[in-house]
Amino acid sequence: MKILVINAGSSSLKYQLIDINREEVMAKGLCERIGINGSRLKHKPNHSEGVTIEKSMQDHAEAIRMVIDALRDERHGVIKDMSEISAVGHRVVHGGEYFSESVLIDHRVKEAIDACSSLAPLHNPPNLTGIKACEEAMPGVPMVAVFDTAFHQTMPPQAYLYALPYEMYEKHRVRKYGFHGTSHKYVTQRAAVLMNKPIEELKIITCHLGNGSSVAAVKSGISIDTSMGFTPLAGVVMGTRTGLIDPAIVTYLMETENMSIKEINNLLNKKSGVLGISGISSDFRDIDDAADEGNERAQLALDIFAYSIRQYIGKYMTTMGGIDAVVFTAGIGENNSRMRAHIVKGLEFLGIKIDAEKNAVRGQELDISTPDATVSTLVIPTNEEFMIALDTKRIVNK
Ligand code: AMP
Repeated sequence: MKILVINAGSSSLKYQLIDINREEVMAKGLCERIGINGSRLKHKPNHSEGVTIEKSMQDHAEAIRMVIDALRDERHGVIKDMSEISAVGHRVVHGGEYFSESVLIDHRVKEAIDACSSLAPLHNPPNLTGIKACEEAMPGVPMVAVFDTAFHQTMPPQAYLYALPYEMYEKHRVRKYGFHGTSHKYVTQRAAVLMNKPIEELKIITCHLGNGSSVAAVKSGISIDTSMGFTPLAGVVMGTRTGLIDPAIVTYLMETENMSIKEINNLLNKKSGVLGISGISSDFRDIDDAADEGNERAQLALDIFAYSIRQYIGKYMTTMGGIDAVVFTAGIGENNSRMRAHIVKGLEFLGIKIDAEKNAVRGQELDISTPDATVSTLVIPTNEEFMIALDTKRIVNK
């Protein structure tokens, strides 16, 4: 069964064609600058050279048509005919309170995705555009929406409600939603396989540490709390985002710096985090290098990031009454052994102990804990596209 996975942004469209029965990526690629001058398609079949096609793409519908052409091209293609694609899985950022599961897309689902656009104005509209473009180019092919927020819909009210007047929740649905759900779900399932235990018996803290970062408390395979909130700005310190700060700082800065809503949003989302603290970069490789050269603010940024993750590990241990595993995933979690060691330093008293040699691993699944650790520390590369394809298969076969 071949499933096309689509992640549509405002001017981009990422795709992977996955043979889900063989668990194999057949081809992947990216359309860039859709609707802008200089648009191009980068296409990479699994077993041969990649190709870049420079061609105008007026809109997402045209981009999808180019993707299909590339997939069945004589030289770079991996299928003979579009009919080989059994279904399409779409990544959708926000499902609000409508969706606690992936879902077969119909007219009502599209309306609900549209209704969530006010909660994710940068993401949901292009996601919807991608869906409509695929429907146009591939009529009759079943489409499934897989939401970043869905996995966290199992959180209890005590975890998802803010202590604001209750009417703010009733009127505006202001609550914690959480994000990166597809990634947290995938690594939790892989952790159970690696540990050779039923997922129902496990309490796992998953740390998705990339440019955007979030930590989740997953009990019996179900998310019961997560660090991101109403938006992906909340929680741990990130590349350019503040994470948790005193909300009064927002109005204070707006007043004293005479900032507009747009400016304060930009400050909190784009200029803060480890970039803001270090003044160097949002990329941990640059910050590591600067810290090695003796830059104190770079070291401070690393210390604050590690401290912020460590605190969530402690918090979620309390939430779940102990844990069986901590999982590291995404760019930093998978590749930055130094940061992993930094985060768990001092947590030996909780049974979290890692082996320095095993911790040197990059980008592969491994249990890096010492034999006497009572909590397993696992490195698990995330694979959101694969999870989307798996969910799509399950929903279509229902
Ligand atoms: P992501 O948003 O998941 O792509 O993660 C971005 C972050 O991961 C950046 O801060 C990078 O420093 C880090 N990262 C990604 N790939 C690597 C790598 N191969 N080695 C070290 N760090 C990496």
